[in-house]
Amino acid sequence: MEKYICNTCGYIYDPVAGDPESGVEAGMPFGALPDDWVCPQCATQKADFEPEGGEDMPLPLAGE
Ligand SMILES: [Zn+2]
Repeated sequence: MEKYICNTCGYIYDPVAGDPESGVEAGMPFGALPDDWVCPQCATQKADFEPEGGEDMPLPLAGE
């Protein structure tokens, strides 16, 4: 499963570990997280995470 990184603070969501402090079980893929899940460090929304090292889903640049 793919890790996702927070664009704001650099927090990495690791599906293998999940996010127990937010009630997310270990083994939960990023795509299966609830829509209201946010970064546990900075409260950034899921939409502002990107796949760690992934090149297949580039995000639009600000200002476009
Ligand atoms: Zn964050």
